[in-house]
Amino acid sequence: MPAVMRHGGRLVVVGGVAAGMSAASRARKLRPDVEIVAVEKGRDVSYGACSLPYFIADVIRDRGDLVAYDAEFFRRERRIDVRLEAEAVGLDARKRTLTFRTGGGTETLPFDSLVIATGARAVKVPLPGADLDGVFTLRTLEDGEALKRTIASGNVKRVAIVGGGYIGLEMAEAFAARGIAVTVIELMPAILSTYDTDVSDVVEKELLRNGVAVRKGSRVDGFEPDSGGHRVGYIVAGGQRIATDLAGPGYSVCPQFLPRSECARLARRGRSLWKRGALRAAAIGRGSSRVLRPEIRGDFIRWIDPGIATRAEAQLLARIEALRVTLNRLLFVGAFDFELHWALYPPGAHYARHLDRFRGARERVVSLVLYLNEGWRVRDGGALRLYLSDGAHRDVVPIGGTLVVFLADRFEHEVLPAHRERLSLTGWLRRRTG
Ligand SMILES: Cc1cc2nc3c(=O)[nH]c(=O)nc-3n(C[C@H](O)[C@H](O)[C@H](O)COP(=O)(O)OP(=O)(O)OC[C@H]3O[C@@H](n4cnc5c(N)ncnc54)[C@H](O)[C@@H]3O)c2cc1C
Repeated sequence: MPAVMRHGGRLVVVGGVAAGMSAASRARKLRPDVEIVAVEKGRDVSYGACSLPYFIADVIRDRGDLVAYDAEFFRRERRIDVRLEAEAVGLDARKRTLTFRTGGGTETLPFDSLVIATGARAVKVPLPGADLDGVFTLRTLEDGEALKRTIASGNVKRVAIVGGGYIGLEMAEAFAARGIAVTVIELMPAILSTYDTDVSDVVEKELLRNGVAVRKGSRVDGFEPDSGGHRVGYIVAGGQRIATDLAGPGYSVCPQFLPRSECARLARRGRSLWKRGALRAAAIGRGSSRVLRPEIRGDFIRWIDPGIATRAEAQLLARIEALRVTLNRLLFVGAFDFELHWALYPPGAHYARHLDRFRGARERVVSLVLYLNEGWRVRDGGALRLYLSDGAHRDVVPIGGTLVVFLADRFEHEVLPAHRERLSLTGWLRRRTG
């Protein structure tokens, strides 16, 4: 709170949990003279979200035990005017007013100082089926209560947890304690991926000992309803969609394969390599027949060396590794590793029609192209044209985050000229030959 706040002024705090009520309490201690109003859109203040898994496990039975101090305590002991179920909906910084909505209507409150402590929101992943009944996120006490009510109905026999981080594993423990069969689905090759595998292996063994199934290297692609059509019945995971596509038409186009933030980090890395002159004109052919033919192939490339990969590159390598493991498991593609390179096409450059698995490159079994172009429009050109077996073709617009996967020996393809710099990562899952 600024020291300049006038005597008897008003401090308004938006958000009444850890940060908000600490700020309000500290302000009261420092300034007995000011009026303090805390506006909280939920029904509680100062509750411990950290204990929600124990609430769900029923170790903590009473929701009141999650609340450190209730609104009445703050009103009585700290003279903080707590407004519950009051959602801040408007702020006029120039006039110094906050507007909030309650069951009784809308109110506008002038303030001298304002603290915004509205915390985080649970991200409901933008996947098909994420809105089905039975798909939960856990952030607030209300979320915890909703989950607990559903468990109490007695109809929850199996639970899948997307993400094997701290909270995912705490929830695995909670559900297992309630006698529910649990599967943890983790994208990375290990759970608790911020730890070394020495630690995560021990944790995984403990999970398995407690009957929790763990699927690592599995990307959740979406949720499908049960026979009733409204409630989640199945999880489509582990690159299953890509595997199904490869087994069917032989190619798969996955928009939003990468979250925007990861895509942006990789794009920054690629563009900085390009600006530093670290990409080289790509050749065609192999061995002694390698030759530069910009009229056939106009991109500039650089192979990724896993030994010196940046954090963003390493994260992507882990994703591709997870996909490799999945495709081996589901399609028996026999890929033992993969290779990946940056590819930048300057405006006007293209790559003429060709097949990736040409003579002498029999180890390339699956081709991958990941686009990193922000704000790309169809009129920017640069589409990947896949020639299909029925003589038709499919053009894929190189929009950032889209991954294209196809069987390397099946599809001739070309890169059409782009009107802007076009950035991608291109690679192959490889199997041993000879
Ligand atoms: C399941 C779970 C387990 C966790 N375990 C741990 C742990 O073990 N250790 C740890 O350190 N942390 C843990 N955390 C994280 C910890 O709970 C958060 O870091 C902490 O709650 C953040 O406090 P905050 O006050 O910043 O935000 P929040 O707790 O998110 O509070 C913000 C409040 O602002 C309110 N609000 C939002 N918008 C408005 C608006 N427009 N008007 C009025 N009010 C609004 C919200 O209703 C909310 O009550 C866990 C979290 C969860 C969900």
